Amino acid sequence: NVRTRFAPSPTGYLHIGGARTALFSWAFARRHGGTFILRIEDTDVARSTPEAVQAILDGMAWLGLDADEGPFYQMQRMERYKEVIQQMLAAGTAYHCYTSSEELDRIREEQRARGEKPRYDGRWRPEAGKVLPTPPEGVKPVVRFRNPAEGVVAWDDLVKGRIEIANTELDDLVIARADGTPTYNFCVVVDDLDMGITHVIRGDDHVNNTPRQINILQALGAQVPLYAHLSMILGDDGTKLSKRHGAVSVMQYDDDGYLPEAVVNYLGRLGWSHGDDEIFSREQFVEWFDLDHITPSAAQFNTEKLNWLNAHYIKQADNARLAAEVSRRLARRGVDPEAGPALESIVALYKERVANLNELADSVELYCVEVHPAPELIAQHLTDGARSALAGLKGRLESAPWEKSALNQAIKDTMAEHGLKMPQVAIPLRVATLGVPQTPAIDAVLEVLGRERVLARMARYV
Ligand code: GLU
Repeated sequence: NVRTRFAPSPTGYLHIGGARTALFSWAFARRHGGTFILRIEDTDVARSTPEAVQAILDGMAWLGLDADEGPFYQMQRMERYKEVIQQMLAAGTAYHCYTSSEELDRIREEQRARGEKPRYDGRWRPEAGKVLPTPPEGVKPVVRFRNPAEGVVAWDDLVKGRIEIANTELDDLVIARADGTPTYNFCVVVDDLDMGITHVIRGDDHVNNTPRQINILQALGAQVPLYAHLSMILGDDGTKLSKRHGAVSVMQYDDDGYLPEAVVNYLGRLGWSHGDDEIFSREQFVEWFDLDHITPSAAQFNTEKLNWLNAHYIKQADNARLAAEVSRRLARRGVDPEAGPALESIVALYKERVANLNELADSVELYCVEVHPAPELIAQHLTDGARSALAGLKGRLESAPWEKSALNQAIKDTMAEHGLKMPQVAIPLRVATLGVPQTPAIDAVLEVLGRERVLARMARYV
């Protein structure tokens, strides 16, 4: 039974890399009918904030990554970690170390001077036949893990392949500080064990922690999970994805007008592939997702491709959904979404033409507010000739049946009467009614805008 987890540290928003990790862990659990667990790694109290926890929960909800268990919070599991530390001390797989940090610094300095790699020298490590120093008075010890002295620690990474580390490379990790608080790698181990995690899917910035975590798990007699370390995500420009690349928080994509299904589809293809398939639904992704087709090399972010997917999903989305998205965005701008025609009829005109939901809202807004065309547009398009044609058209529109073919006929009659071509009527009409020279088909625009609004808006110029 597959059990995966996403284990963010709440020190900031849910960024794109974290979201991709969460998506893969979630999809793998779903694919195998398993369990997806959310675990908040909040033991870094100085950097963890409740706002960041909320931002992570919001981001997960927006992407539709529902957890079956959790959120669990490491800060609420302190007693459990301390209990396991006591067990390890009793079993001899961990020991007290009284070396002060000043002493450690001195040891390291000497090692460096000798050209050695600085590491804890094991002076408090119990060995058969070794006489340990007497603990100094008034000093609180740290607890160190008694790392195996020999052999290798190895695992078959599901993305990177076999990785082997000699135990001589690993010194005895501090698992509890002098004040008794457990350290990061130790909490992860106890959690992965207690939560029965079968597949650890995480960023490859944790690859160096894995051998230590495996050694501790083995010392606890645990079944070691399988590991899949995802390569990092690079920005459009090939450098490590960072704030410089703009929208790195998942919720920023919401603000920027992306549909979550576009982001999910995009993230799904970021370092994973299924043949040449670029567009797939969440359900399809879950059905196809596997760890075999994750690329071990870094994935490069491609904003153009994301935009292309977003435009695709906006076209596909039903009008009621788009209307709700636009309504929320207009309200945020202080525009009353009820002030214009029904939003569903407006979004239907524009959904094929926009790259994102903010652009969609920009167009819809023109139907909801009084528009003020730029003076240059008025000068260029609402000339005396154009105004007299619009005056004739206005008369026709007052009595025309309000549907596209009749509206189109009224425009054609006006063209004939004034000897004008379509754009010579349509563009001034667009500027007069919507304040912009380019819009979808003018008869459709008029139909949606409605007789009263069209006539009132035209009346300002004729
Ligand atoms: N808390 C770690 C992070 O945010 C993840 C740890 C893990 O997945 O093992 O990077």
